Amino acid sequence: MKKNARLFVISAPSGAGKTTLIKQVMARFPGVSYSVSHTTRPPRPGEIDGKDYFFVTETTFKQMIDAGEWLEWARVHAHYYGTARSFVQKQLEAGNNLLLDIDVQGARQIMASGLDPVTVFILPPSVEVLRQRLATRGTDSAQTIALRLENAKKEITWKDRYRYVVVNDDLAAATEHLCAIFEQEMISGERKMDSSDV
Ligand code: ADP
Ligand code: 5GP
Repeated sequence: MKKNARLFVISAPSGAGKTTLIKQVMARFPGVSYSVSHTTRPPRPGEIDGKDYFFVTETTFKQMIDAGEWLEWARVHAHYYGTARSFVQKQLEAGNNLLLDIDVQGARQIMASGLDPVTVFILPPSVEVLRQRLATRGTDSAQTIALRLENAKKEITWKDRYRYVVVNDDLAAATEHLCAIFEQEMISGERKMDSSDV
């Protein structure tokens, strides 16, 4: 791995605004690639296979577990999600900055991997605001929303294990905070490379 390649890991309870914030970061930092995860959950309207996720069957997912092909994987909200080891290795070896949008179980595996990730937890202002955002988004059933809120309470207890916590209350302020983290971490990655070149 080239020393300037940064591995960013972002987690948040569902509905906290992670997808919205990540879109803003990706638009601002074209030098950061998005790691497309695999999932067994069905696509939501508008989601594209290979762009939002690789949508796979549970059989395929489990075969990949047995073959050791996941860098990390987890069962989240009753579905499987995973990051392919080969994809991450290739990106980091090529010196490309990479962003992983994964849950707290997956983040924990990456934290233990020795890859020195830059970890960010997106925190909603409150669980009530989270409930409202999930309802307004309109992509999930009442049952799914209830499950995601229950999980959110557990996920939030993990926030202190992350290097940074960004509260997504005002969207513009949260975007600036997250972009400042990316800027700072990419500069410090380049400095590390410069000093190792001497
Ligand atoms: P996640 O990816 O974390 O599940 P989304 O990015 O899909 O969350 O956001 C959930 C909903 O909340 C969306 O409808 C989004 O437009 C809205 N949202 C995101 N951030 C804010 C914010 N700061 N204030 C109000 N609404 C927001
Ligand atoms: P959603 O179904 O709303 O797209 O995602 C649900 C949760 O799964 C989110 O917390 C998201 O970050 C997480 N997730 C997405 N991809 C992965 C992955 O590859 N690994 C893990 N561990 N979690 C993932």
